Amino acid sequence: MLPVDLPDAVREALLAPLVDHHCHGVRRDELSRAQFELLITEGSTPAPPGTTHFDTPIGAAIRRWCAPVLDLDPHAPPAVYLARRAELGAGEVNRRLLEASGIVAFLVDTGLEAPELLSAAEMGRHGGAAADEIVRLEQIEQDVAETARAAVDYMDSLAEELTARAARAVGLKSIAAYRCGLDFDPARPSRGSVIAAANRRLGDPKRRLTDPILIRHLLWTAVDVARERGLPMQFHTGYGDTDLYLNRADPALMTGFIRSLQPIGVPIILLHCYPYHRQAAYLAAVFPHVYVDVGLALTYTAAGSARIMAELLELVPFHKQMFSSDCYGVAETCHLGALYFRHSLARVLRTRLDDDEWNATDCARIAHMIGSGNARRVYRL
Ligand SMILES: [Zn+2]
Repeated sequence: MLPVDLPDAVREALLAPLVDHHCHGVRRDELSRAQFELLITEGSTPAPPGTTHFDTPIGAAIRRWCAPVLDLDPHAPPAVYLARRAELGAGEVNRRLLEASGIVAFLVDTGLEAPELLSAAEMGRHGGAAADEIVRLEQIEQDVAETARAAVDYMDSLAEELTARAARAVGLKSIAAYRCGLDFDPARPSRGSVIAAANRRLGDPKRRLTDPILIRHLLWTAVDVARERGLPMQFHTGYGDTDLYLNRADPALMTGFIRSLQPIGVPIILLHCYPYHRQAAYLAAVFPHVYVDVGLALTYTAAGSARIMAELLELVPFHKQMFSSDCYGVAETCHLGALYFRHSLARVLRTRLDDDEWNATDCARIAHMIGSGNARRVYRL
């Protein structure tokens, strides 16, 4: 179902199977209302007393669009929705919502792996889709820091471990935005500075990595691996959870690093981007190796998502944008990510057709590129 009338070819292109190039596992266990509510916010706390996280754009969207997938009327009240969810059980709910998303391939960020989250392979099985892994760099660094005995050992193990993990993956991902901000010095750090920083790090290896020297070393080691294996590198930018200083996640802060990677040819994929999606569109427009996505933003802005899609499409080259659901925790986020992607793009395409700016053939081609073609090309699926 699409919110506007469109020529058949455009409808078919919008409803065609999607490649979800950035997502996480959803929970396999039964969730209490409190647990469910914490998984439909990027915040980390319950709604204030007497209020609910259902009173948000995403909460209303769950009641509107996920309720019918569970055989309820649209706009079912939260208590009715959660009772039906419990009645069906997590396995059935996951299967229905993942399948309803019409996703044909999941590229799963496995950096948050936990026993209660479906693995990449399970996401594929539940959703009737293919599944591949995206390796999270900071997770590998953490594993290496906790086992390395000396700085040289740390540097060697990091390179070896990254190479080994990358061999089974279709891309790498960094959350440097969370750790030191994207305004890091773009240069590759000197070996001496890395050894000194690694020695400090090994004194307290359980701590999260925040040292910009070691983050730059991690990124440049990853660039070497990505170039060797022809893999793209994803970067968290923009909107995220409460660990983030949003102003340090503006992708324009990474311009120096992006420029350094241009001659190397490693594709850089800017995830989320909102509210800096216009900056991201600019970067994708001027740098040949930069791609963008507004996945998480469409789900969380829900009924308002068409405006974000329209703003991104003001400037972004059509061969540079990708679809993602960025689902995490509950399968509702997968269904809504796909649904609002299709709805928001449908509305923008309808406007372009009405204005006689793009014809139906253009619109169908653009929907295919953004929905799956660009990801297939860049990740070599
Ligand atoms: Zn994500």
